[in-house]
Formats: sequence, C-alpha cells, structure tokens
Amino acid sequence: MSGIGKLFVISAPSGAGKTTLVRKVLNRFKGLSYSVSHTTRNPRRNEQEGVDYFFITSVEFEQRITLDHWLEWAKVHDNYYGTSKEFVRTCLEKGRSLLLDIDVQGAGQIMTSNSDLVSIFIMPPSFEILSQRLEKRGTDSRQVIAQRLENAKSEIVQKDLYQYVVVNDDLDEAIEALCSIFEKEMAQS
Ligand code: ADP
Ligand code: 5GP
Repeated sequence: MSGIGKLFVISAPSGAGKTTLVRKVLNRFKGLSYSVSHTTRNPRRNEQEGVDYFFITSVEFEQRITLDHWLEWAKVHDNYYGTSKEFVRTCLEKGRSLLLDIDVQGAGQIMTSNSDLVSIFIMPPSFEILSQRLEKRGTDSRQVIAQRLENAKSEIVQKDLYQYVVVNDDLDEAIEALCSIFEKEMAQS
C-alpha cells in the first residue's frame, strides 16, 4: 500500500468500548479518516448508512469477494464485514491517515501484508464488565450477547499480536492513552 497516510487498525471484543473510544480519537485528530466498513448485519437504531456502515446483502457481499473488492473481510458473529480496498488506497494516496475498526481475523489479514501499519487492541477490564457493558448498551438480544461473549474469549487470546494494548477501564484514562499513541505515531508519518 503506497502513499504517505498512515494505517491504524483497532480491534476489541464487542462491548469493550471501541466505538466510544474511536469517536473521541476521530474528533481530536482532524487529519485522520475513518474507514466505513460494509456489513450484512441489520442496522442498529441510530446507525446511519454510509456513516457507521454500508449495509449490504450477503449476495452483494459474496459477489464482491469474487471481484476481489475487499482489502480484508471476515465473518464475525454470523455476519460478513469487509473493508473496501479501493477506499483505503485512495485515502492513503491522498496523504490522509486512516483508522480501521475491524475484528481480529481481518486485522490478521492486513498485518501480514502491511508491515508499516499501527495495530491497537482495546481490552475490557474484566469479562464481567464486558458482559455488563453489552447488557447496558441494550442494542443486542440475549442470544447475540451470549455469542459475542463467547467470541470474546478467542479474540482476547490474540491481543499480543497487536503493537499496543489499551485497557478501557476508566474512560478518560483510556481516551488519553489511545490519543497519545495516535499523537506519537502520526508525528512519525
Ligand atoms: P464496542 O464498540 O467495543 O462494541 P461500545 O463503544 O459500544 O463498544 O461500548 C459498549 C458500552 O459500554 C456502551 O454503552 C458504552 O457507553 C459503554 N462504555 C464504553 N467505555 C466505557 C467505560 N470506560 N466505562 C463504562 N462504560 C463504558
Ligand atoms: P458490530 O456489529 O458490533 O458493529 O461489529 C462487530 C465486529 O465486527 C467488531 O469487532 C468490529 O470491529 C468488526 N468489524 C467491523 N467492520 C469490519 C470490517 O470491515 N472487517 C472486519 N474484519 N471486521 C469488522
């Protein structure tokens, strides 16, 4: 991947607070863009097409797999999620840094092909707190929450593949820890 923009990848188990933290980072760093993923899951209330995700059907998603459209893609919690290769290339070539909020499978795919990316894993302080956050968020059914908690176990064991691990216990402290990583890494780009 050429260009002077820097690629940041952030992963976390669902409910760890990644979306909350990513919003804060994007507000603070104006030179940083967000890669809007495509997904086949249903929109949650308040989610907007083209802002949070591009919502597409499984048929469309699979067609784009055959067309080599995705920089990376994965099936996460029974739905497809993918990052557009073209969008990432255009953004980096314009010199903009880009933040990808993707799961551990997708991050693994990109890590092998982009040695200069910055990878960050967000950890919940404990499994119990992760469960409470998913319940409190109130966006997912019991069954979906149970599946996300089950998947969290296999995601957390992969945290050491990432360059940085930030524990999201106190929100303000986690925001500062994350922003200091972006400050340091963007200064080097
Ligand atoms: P993710 O994007 O990782 O699935 P969210 O950002 O949606 O997670 O956060 C899950 C829930 O936890 C939300 O209700 C959010 O307000 C809450 N939350 C996030 N960070 C913290 C924190 N440090 N302390 C307490 N609650 C938090
Ligand atoms: P959610 O359904 O809660 O928005 O996201 C579920 C998981 O899918 C999260 O771990 C999120 O990071 C991941 N995800 C979102 N977009 C992508 C993507 O484009 N590619 C991959 N591999 N994972 C994604």
